[in-house]
Amino acid sequence: MSNWESYVRKVVPYVPGEQPKQEKIIKLNTNENPYPPAPGVVKALKELNTDLLRRYPQPDCKILVDAIAEYYGLNSSQVFVGVGSDDVLAMIFMTFFNSDKPLLFPDITYSFYDVWADMLRIPYEVKALDDNFLIKKEDYYGENGGVIFPNPNAPTGILMPLSEIEDIIKHNQDVIVVVDEAYIDFGGESALPLIEKYDNLLVVQTFSKSRSMAGMRIGYAMGNEKLIKYINDVKYSFNSYTMNQTALVLGVEAVKDKAYFEDTCKKVIATREWTKEELTKLGFTFGDSMSNFVFAKHETVAAKDIFEALKQENIYVRYFSKERISDYLRISIGTDEEMKALIVFLKKYLGKS
Ligand code: PMP
Repeated sequence: MSNWESYVRKVVPYVPGEQPKQEKIIKLNTNENPYPPAPGVVKALKELNTDLLRRYPQPDCKILVDAIAEYYGLNSSQVFVGVGSDDVLAMIFMTFFNSDKPLLFPDITYSFYDVWADMLRIPYEVKALDDNFLIKKEDYYGENGGVIFPNPNAPTGILMPLSEIEDIIKHNQDVIVVVDEAYIDFGGESALPLIEKYDNLLVVQTFSKSRSMAGMRIGYAMGNEKLIKYINDVKYSFNSYTMNQTALVLGVEAVKDKAYFEDTCKKVIATREWTKEELTKLGFTFGDSMSNFVFAKHETVAAKDIFEALKQENIYVRYFSKERISDYLRISIGTDEEMKALIVFLKKYLGKS
């Protein structure tokens, strides 16, 4: 018997939400946007010059980096793009979390952080959210090898005020602080202006949620040009051509249409607020979500039972059988019609109609 298996880099992988094959389902389980990408994206896809697919794409992703930089009023040297923010975050983990001291993040948070840390052998320490699922800023004052958290946090949806984020950055000037803003466009205040003040801050965003392009896989980091150069050095040491030509072209179109983007976010926010009111009437409680999902617990019925019952009805939401959150369902915000169908079913199921 050979011994090769003892040398395998064994990892416990991240488990993404289900992508069921049936067409006629109400899919509220992966925080996708229920509205289509901007019209310019659809048009550009139809008119795509397929001869370009013969060639390698731009390794520096210049057209997309320039478009994002222009949108946010930055220099292109302050922007890094990747294959979804997962790819951007993985590059950031590889580049900056290289200390013997622990990386800090909340106990209830994006469940990819501990997976990357384990895979890359990065020591980490989780800091418990308080009983209301809020991040306690004081937990991040001690010596550490870096800090990362989403804002709004996931899966709680709760937003941290910018003043508290700045406080965490101020206490951590010798390490890299990453604010993962996957859901910031649904009513939150971005930490982006702080990158001019703090050279150790990275703000990460994505086209997957507010720009309706989860399937295209585009994410980006914004920060001091020195930080961006270091991430690029690691990226070029890993895979020069991360972004495909189609994603670069369509990403530019998505960024250009500010009005469509703002309108889509407004619609999702309005539906979220309606959903919150209806869920409250049905006996659910939740933190005040500022994202495109609600993380809710029912006063009497177990989350797992509701999750299974919804699935029988072809309504998919997310359930995490994890300590502290196994009483909760994460419900993504769909269209008005989808959310109405969810509420109609819940009323019936909970005996409230
Ligand atoms: N950060 C958070 C907090 C998320 O919930 C997600 C979505 N799963 C991501 C990052 C990654 O999103 P994407 O790779 O689609 O940009």
